[in-house]
Amino acid sequence: MARQREKNSTDDYRTLNISALNRKGLLRAGASFQWEWWRRGEKVASIGIAIENRHGMRLRYRSSRYNSEPVQHDYPVTITWTPCHLGGERPWFLCPSCGRRVAKLYNGGVFACRHCMRLNYPSQQANKGDRALNQAWTLRHKLGCDAGPFDFPAQYISRPKGMHRTTFAKRIEKLARIEEKAMADTVTAMQKLGIRIDGITH
Ligand SMILES: [Zn+2]
Repeated sequence: MARQREKNSTDDYRTLNISALNRKGLLRAGASFQWEWWRRGEKVASIGIAIENRHGMRLRYRSSRYNSEPVQHDYPVTITWTPCHLGGERPWFLCPSCGRRVAKLYNGGVFACRHCMRLNYPSQQANKGDRALNQAWTLRHKLGCDAGPFDFPAQYISRPKGMHRTTFAKRIEKLARIEEKAMADTVTAMQKLGIRIDGITH
């Protein structure tokens, strides 16, 4: 069993990148390993991955949302391959929710592509239901953070130079509240798409 670490990779938090798995030579039939996300020396999340064959893997992990009971997940994700211009092949996930061919899946309880997770930037979101998510993006930008709520939690945002600690703490607290709402909205939206969501891993 191989253990993998993604050290302090804020961009990859809660993101599963198939190119990274491939680069590390992990897409071998029979491979079974733990994929971990690390942030500032702290493990923030981990999942079990079992590569069944060239065209499929299973994801196994527990997730919990707020204070509810953790839920066990175990489901297959299809892998597909396309030829590269310079020879060889590159792998893709098929989003378990919509079937799109994507390089990255995002965890919102279950893993799905950014379209399903509605990770688009605020300008692309006309939907009224995305209000909390839009607010979160705006507040993050004001704090000098270009990453979105699904990339890493509000408490990992660094304090901008010159901003008073108390002011910063208040803004982060407000942002965290809004992001909880945004997450809840996303879960509702995914449930409407017919995806069973049990929780969000934190
Ligand atoms: Zn999708």
